[in-house]
Amino acid sequence: MITPNSLEKIVQESRDRLHLITDSLPVLIAYVDNKQRYVFCNAAYHDWFGVSVKEIQGVRMSEMFDEHSYRIMQPYIESVLEGERVDFEIQLDHRKDGPRINHTTLIPHISENETVGFCVLLMDITDTRTAEALEEERARILARTLEKAEISNRELDQFASVCSHDLQQPLRAVKGFTDLLMKNYGSTLNEKGRMYCEQILDGTKRMQTMINSLLDYARLEAPDTFRETVNMENVVKQAIENLGPAISANKATIACQALPEIEGDEMQLIRLIQNLLDNAIKYRRDARPEISINVKRHEKGWLFGVRDNGIGIASEYAERIFDIFGRLHSARKYPGTGIGLSVCRKIVENHGGRLWHESNREDGSTFYFILPDKHP
Ligand code: ADP
Repeated sequence: MITPNSLEKIVQESRDRLHLITDSLPVLIAYVDNKQRYVFCNAAYHDWFGVSVKEIQGVRMSEMFDEHSYRIMQPYIESVLEGERVDFEIQLDHRKDGPRINHTTLIPHISENETVGFCVLLMDITDTRTAEALEEERARILARTLEKAEISNRELDQFASVCSHDLQQPLRAVKGFTDLLMKNYGSTLNEKGRMYCEQILDGTKRMQTMINSLLDYARLEAPDTFRETVNMENVVKQAIENLGPAISANKATIACQALPEIEGDEMQLIRLIQNLLDNAIKYRRDARPEISINVKRHEKGWLFGVRDNGIGIASEYAERIFDIFGRLHSARKYPGTGIGLSVCRKIVENHGGRLWHESNREDGSTFYFILPDKHP
């Protein structure tokens, strides 16, 4: 037989069970009657708002929240009281952490066709929202960068075609007329006049070389993915073969460690090594050029070093030498256009790496670059 005492016990036990279950959930849970007065809340709710379970009983929702927040909630409360389940997001003040975004669900409790109260479920989603916002921001920046890269690629293409057609045409005309001048009127020109003509021709030749090297640079495309496995020993071998005449003319020695296989574009890598070796020979001192190629493991792949015993580079020019047409010497002293190292840097960056150098006037220079490992 159920006595008032045992009934009380059963009710208490079921209340304890409810607390036990709801307190173990990370969601903020409360029950509110149809007069918008709190009847119950779980531990998470109490922790978040800083009100005790006892204190909250009988408190009106309008007293729990500031006026602004309550005004936002009001239409949702009205809907739930009409028997409709509602979901919304709202910013509420955490007792310690200040404003936080909450996903809120109000579930009606309907008994005998009447809404007698409703359950409030709150979930703090600020961290998720912040992570999403960060992710969105990152995606926006990436899209903008890609767009910019696309524009600059397009500009570069246009620039390359301007170089190849529009610039070369007047250059050819200057050369053509100077040739004609020399041919038809050369005998009537005095020595100074002929020297001027030769200088014009020298200038046009140099300009032609610069335009061609600029075109070469602009066409150095970064393939989307480097699927090719490249044996760096073969790359060095090929570069040395291409530089054969310069190596023997300068009696240069090139010592090379065992080199790894990497992921990349073989033609571009031959060009990289060839430019670096070419410079190591060209910018020599009186002594024989002694060059060494070393490699060691790096967290991002492999760190290569091409070291020479040449004239070195003053520290104030450390970056200038990588500029397009950035040269430290006259073409008469050391021939060249000043594009070799810009090409090298672009190749290394195309491979996702970095190129830099360490140099001093006594010991020569070492050019370092990082290249990615081959895929397993
Ligand atoms: P170029 O050799 O045609 O001038 P680069 O872009 O290859 O063009 O080099 C730019 C400048 O960097 C060179 O003019 C030279 O002054 C300097 N440089 C490059 N490599 C070396 C080196 N190994 N030793 C000393 N100076 C160098």
